[in-house]
Amino acid sequence: MKEKNMANNPSCQICGNQTFPLFDDKLSLTFHQCQHCGYTFKDNQHHLDHQAEKSQYDAHENTSDNQGYVRMFERFLTHAVLPYKQTGRALEFGSGPGPVLYEMLKTRGFKTTHYDPYYHPNQSYLNNTYDLITTTEVFEHLSNPEMVFKTLVSLLKQDGILAIMTSFRPNDNDEFLSWWYRRDATHIGFFTLKSFEHLAKKHGVPIVQTNHKNTITFKKE
Ligand SMILES: [Zn+2]
Repeated sequence: MKEKNMANNPSCQICGNQTFPLFDDKLSLTFHQCQHCGYTFKDNQHHLDHQAEKSQYDAHENTSDNQGYVRMFERFLTHAVLPYKQTGRALEFGSGPGPVLYEMLKTRGFKTTHYDPYYHPNQSYLNNTYDLITTTEVFEHLSNPEMVFKTLVSLLKQDGILAIMTSFRPNDNDEFLSWWYRRDATHIGFFTLKSFEHLAKKHGVPIVQTNHKNTITFKKE
């Protein structure tokens, strides 16, 4: 019986290995946890539809009036971006209603494009390649994270930088099951460093920086 159940488990969306179910009694939902890389994602039935998801985003206050967001992005730029890239063409992927980081990159002299599936759904970003791609608080929302990662890497120039912000999953499952970040209904996927190491190796973009908490930077060779 147990084996039959295991056979029904979805494979890891990052590394393709087997997952096992992780039940969340507090939220009454099921996660799937990869037994190889630790990537953990909510079962498909808990994913919001397009309209419900947008309503949640509309309720967020991430505009440049919100000083907390500005400070968060300043820290991100300081340790995850600027040590590796200071100039060139940039893409801010998943820029949100603000779009705060897009404006900050422009101010710093990057020739910046932005894309957001809800607030700036202009697909022309696909027609360029970039020295820098930033994507913050996006990867935890993706139902197809590996495909998005692959696409972003394909848009990087040689020596280009991909800088991601998403909170890393606590390694301990008890800690994970009381972690605030998992509660947000739009957050469906949670990475470990090992998940990102897998993506780095598979797509030829070594990791040049991580704070082991919520930022990671890749470089295209
Ligand atoms: Zn995995």
